[in-house]
Amino acid sequence: MSHSHSSRVQKHIGDPISEKPAVDQEFLEEIFNDIQSDFRFDHELNGCLNCGICTATCPAAHYYDFSPREMVQLLWTENLEGIYDAMQEKIWACAQCYTCAARCPFKNSPGGLIMLMRETAIKHGMESAKSVLRPFSRVMLKLISTGNQLAPDMITPDHFPDWGPNISKVDAPLKLLRKAIPMATLNTTATAWEVNLKTSIELYTIWEETGVLDQLETIDENLFDVIVDIMDEKREDLEDWEDEQEDENDE
Ligand code: SF4
Ligand code: SF4
Repeated sequence: MSHSHSSRVQKHIGDPISEKPAVDQEFLEEIFNDIQSDFRFDHELNGCLNCGICTATCPAAHYYDFSPREMVQLLWTENLEGIYDAMQEKIWACAQCYTCAARCPFKNSPGGLIMLMRETAIKHGMESAKSVLRPFSRVMLKLISTGNQLAPDMITPDHFPDWGPNISKVDAPLKLLRKAIPMATLNTTATAWEVNLKTSIELYTIWEETGVLDQLETIDENLFDVIVDIMDEKREDLEDWEDEQEDENDE
């Protein structure tokens, strides 16, 4: 019998005794190429001594099964399967504090490299990215549609069970309390501060132009649709307002 075709091991990489499905070699290469072809990659990775200084100073490494040294080594040695595995969980432990970048004798930025891995996970709609970002959907909705990251109306007992007995204070009359704050912009509970219509749309345009909204669509299509509807309406409102201003100036 002829065995002229290439070996299965080269095409599909996986652990024969694991129940995890084998991953296609081409897909692993595509993932690595996406990370490596980013213009930041060569700035963030200059070599690696495997010295572990980054891990010794990393706060996340103290609490999780996570090591920036390991992440850098995976990239430096082009360990495609290891990179893919790390993108399933470990990369999400990083706090993006960049202590590692300040300490690395090679002037690497492990935190920056992990950011590239995260962006690639989002781009490919990996399940790890979806599940990590799902709890932040309310924050993303608020941020993109209002320019505010957190507003008083988002602080509800249901969302902060870890506050224990102090959660009862959240049931306080927020609107009344906000009125007591002596700043005109804080008399609202839907936003933390006022972002005017023009600024809000400018912010949205930046997210649109820089691909943030494309990434959002990949990981949460419903949220993307809701935000697009809200912002389309805001754009129409701004156009109406600008037309009114022009009319007034013509008079
Ligand atoms: S990334 Fe830098 S600090 Fe970390 S192991 Fe490599 S050389 Fe050492
Ligand atoms: S940026 Fe991430 S990897 Fe670097 S020290 Fe901070 S938590 Fe650790």
